[in-house]
Amino acid sequence: MTLRFHDSATAAVRDFTPLREGKASLYYCGATVQGEPHIGHVRSALAFDQLTRWLQASGYDVTVVRNVTDIDDKILVKAQENNEPWWALAYRFEQAFEDAYDALGILKPSYEPRATGHIPEMHALIALLIERGHAYPALDDSGDVYFDVRSWKQYGSLTRQNIDDMQAAPDADPRGKRDPRDFALWKGFKEGEPETAKWESPWGAGRPGWHLECSAMVTKYLGTEFDIHGGGLDLRFPHHENEMAQSQAAGHGFANFWMHNGMVTYQGEKMSKSIGNTINPREMLQIARPLVVRYYLGQAHYRSVLDYRPGSLTEAAAAVERIETFMNAALGQLHPDGSDYQGTLPEAFRTAMDDDLNIPAALAVLHETVRAGNTALAAADRDNAEAAFLGAVGMTEALGINPLDAQWQQGSGSESMANALDVLVKAQLEARAQARVEKNWAESDRIRDVLAAAGVEVADTAAGATWSLKK
Ligand SMILES: [Zn+2]
Repeated sequence: MTLRFHDSATAAVRDFTPLREGKASLYYCGATVQGEPHIGHVRSALAFDQLTRWLQASGYDVTVVRNVTDIDDKILVKAQENNEPWWALAYRFEQAFEDAYDALGILKPSYEPRATGHIPEMHALIALLIERGHAYPALDDSGDVYFDVRSWKQYGSLTRQNIDDMQAAPDADPRGKRDPRDFALWKGFKEGEPETAKWESPWGAGRPGWHLECSAMVTKYLGTEFDIHGGGLDLRFPHHENEMAQSQAAGHGFANFWMHNGMVTYQGEKMSKSIGNTINPREMLQIARPLVVRYYLGQAHYRSVLDYRPGSLTEAAAAVERIETFMNAALGQLHPDGSDYQGTLPEAFRTAMDDDLNIPAALAVLHETVRAGNTALAAADRDNAEAAFLGAVGMTEALGINPLDAQWQQGSGSESMANALDVLVKAQLEARAQARVEKNWAESDRIRDVLAAAGVEVADTAAGATWSLKK
């Protein structure tokens, strides 16, 4: 089978033919760094990490770009609430995102441009759009510049919407716009905003609009035409629709494929802070090992909804343990001297991955291989055990979940100790949860005090109690 991906722009699965032979270029939207990463951000990065790894395993030299939106209305508002410079807040959360990506083994992109470092490129794109008749300075004195959606007849084509049915862009006073759907490419500076959040421009001082940032940065790093643009399904409209419109209206071919990953829900419902049904990557990493969290977040098809429920991570841990137990046993028996080995990729696994990254089917091949490998080990059938071991190595490497990889071995000297501690603390937390169910507050407090005296801090979350060691 040839490599095929679902293209959201045409709503069809198409053969992947790269623009440049042997090379693949991928841009996916990174975070607006206004807060801690939530699980949807991490799932998106992981989906495109799986894609990157599979393109590499298929022989492509892959260039990956993921942006950081480090200037945005939300960042300015939060910084003001926190009484902190906006750039300090943005950098702090950028680091939190990096930490989450690193913990889960998400490969570093080739380039990770920040919006604030690309203002001249954005000005050039705005000037080009004005020149081509697709953008105009605001009709009021706001200093904004808008994209003229009526001037671009393909507007709405990515999400297959008719322009008259589309929502207004709530990014500026509609009185300055020709059409309420026109969106801001440049936002004029307003009284009370920090002086450090404005840049001079031919249209007056201000800052870039969000959609424009991505278009300008893609072009700088990947050229006017590139292979794949990715992002979460929630970015399809308005963000990606607007990116596509302004880049194509500027005369750029832009993305050949649009790939969108599905959302994460909590027991069938949208996660929401107001309902309290949220779990973030940090909390997941307190419940389970990084390898288990990566396995869990990456096990569904990238286009389907991933539904979290309490117990999900325990099931993922059991699946990882089956793979890990076999691979450790096989390594010990077949390569006790540390002799070299090279992973292989079974045909059925390749076929599944080539088919729009069908990871559930690919994981089924992996688990079947592990079962066959265990049978072979038990029968002292070295040839079949070795074949299964090499297959498991190749498949787990392609998915970024090889338990033998140094990435997952960090601190392995104390890992058994940490695991033992985790089991003991969780037993205490379960006893405490039971005491609370029985409204036995004295017992619940006693357990918490015992844990606190041992330096264990307990946090109650929607997913249950989690723990960490006091610093
Ligand atoms: Zn973007």
